[in-house]
Amino acid sequence: MGGVTPAIIILGQGSLTTARRIQAALPGAVIHGLSGRVEGADQTYAEFGSTLREFYQRNTPIVALCAAGIVIRSLASLLVSKRAEPPVLAVAEDGSAVVPLMGGLSGVNDLARLIASGLGVKPAITTSGEIRFSATFEQAPKGYSVANPQATKSFMSNLLAGKGLFIEGDAPFLDRSRLSHDPDGALRLTVTPHMRDPQPDQLVYHPHCVVVAATGNWDRIPDLLSGYYLSPLSVAYVAQSEAASVFGSWPVRLVPGTPSPLDMVRQAVADPVNIYDDGAVAIAVARSPQDVALIGHPRGRLAVVGLGPGAPDFQAPAVKAELSKAGHIIGYETYVTMAGPFRPDQVVHASDNRVEMERSRHAFTLAAQGEHVVVVSSGDPGVFAMATAVIEALHQSDDPVWHGVELVILPGISAAQSAAAKAGAPLGHDFCVLSLSDNLKPWEVIETRLELAAKADLVLSFYNPVSKARPWQLGRALEIVRAHRSGEVPVVLGRDVGRPAETMIVTTLAALRPEQVDMRTVVIIGSSATQTFPRADGGVWTYTPRWYGERV
Ligand code: SAH
Repeated sequence: MGGVTPAIIILGQGSLTTARRIQAALPGAVIHGLSGRVEGADQTYAEFGSTLREFYQRNTPIVALCAAGIVIRSLASLLVSKRAEPPVLAVAEDGSAVVPLMGGLSGVNDLARLIASGLGVKPAITTSGEIRFSATFEQAPKGYSVANPQATKSFMSNLLAGKGLFIEGDAPFLDRSRLSHDPDGALRLTVTPHMRDPQPDQLVYHPHCVVVAATGNWDRIPDLLSGYYLSPLSVAYVAQSEAASVFGSWPVRLVPGTPSPLDMVRQAVADPVNIYDDGAVAIAVARSPQDVALIGHPRGRLAVVGLGPGAPDFQAPAVKAELSKAGHIIGYETYVTMAGPFRPDQVVHASDNRVEMERSRHAFTLAAQGEHVVVVSSGDPGVFAMATAVIEALHQSDDPVWHGVELVILPGISAAQSAAAKAGAPLGHDFCVLSLSDNLKPWEVIETRLELAAKADLVLSFYNPVSKARPWQLGRALEIVRAHRSGEVPVVLGRDVGRPAETMIVTTLAALRPEQVDMRTVVIIGSSATQTFPRADGGVWTYTPRWYGERV
């Protein structure tokens, strides 16, 4: 289930009792009721199809109390890749049937069993191997990796065809299945931390029972492992001191203080089968994944994400996934609200818009403790927004723990792009983006840039065009532009673009009045090449051709 708690979605009041029984079997799951139809749900939603799609895209397990067909039709447009899907189940409103629909690789059948046992019914499992053997090979059990996953399908087919199974090593994940050891079995299932070349008809499982600790020198780890014939897939995690900031592809645990590698692996594996130590790297092999203790904390993650203009449809799936996995959400109140709703286990830190550096440092402080933090910006986080502040805070810090945080910036659709798309294609040729705010730069710099950009005949987009504290700046900016550009050039004013209160105005540079503009507006001023013509619906198309002067 990827650690994400399921969403139980109901359409009518009559389903609430069943939903509560399911919730009792899935602690943490949130019941979402159709607004106006259901009272007493944990949360409400407005529209079934889009809500379902949003959960799906956020990788949230979905338990829908309605006909399977409705669920399938609602998600049909999204069902492209088999690998990336959350569990999706339909449950009869009276709780009499539990039908796993999608998410075979993300544990839908386990979820179906859990819900069905809570409801006292049998789950409608349809996967053939699962039915015969109560086992699956396609999805490695928690704590194990399969060395040759491409062989799992034919392995299962051969089992279904009646071939016997020879189990080599300790396979506790088969305990609850109907598969047992056959000393003459032609199919071999091997469980070992050691490297193996899988033979035909063999599946090799590597238990995550190896703990490596290093002082930061990851380069040597692969060679050391292979020197001991240990598979890289058996590594549960690499432990290092909190201050180390070197990372590779294995999960990391960061341990406070300055423990030696040997201390760390001893702490992680109380009763090792083997232990190796050369001072800089130590390796301990435990008997099973269950014998490995998690020491320290994971490497924190800090993502600065762009929410786009507002509507969830214009948000990148990567941003949605990040938001659903985050433990902490930080940002200006309006944007945090736009990014929600969040689950009760997610901590929301909404703040005033002005304290960007403070907010960035707060984000790093949390991430340095191993938390998963998301900082939200509207539009693109790198355009007059939080990404810069976050990276600047890092640049100013010499704390190795901050530098060890996994920092990612996920882009969004910026206001000028959203407004341009609504208007046509005014940014189709060279353009420049300017903030008219002199809070963070001297007004003379803005004037110089405006003058040069206007002279260069670039299409101009103005962000932060006016505010209560900056009433005259836009008027002055227009004076400068008008000195270099015909009053006939088209101007696009996009206000609250992509939000419910959106308005779009197309006017000309001569006719534009500063009163038409506020801080929720992005202003696009055309170049000498920008064109307009009427739209069939009564509006106006605006565009800047890609050719310049003579058509080539
Ligand atoms: N990071 C944001 C910009 C933040 S600066 C982005 O990439 O869009 C804030 C300015 O952006 C506002 O003063 C306004 O000029 C513009 N803006 C942001 N969202 C907008 C929207 N939905 N409609 C119109 N303008 C918007």
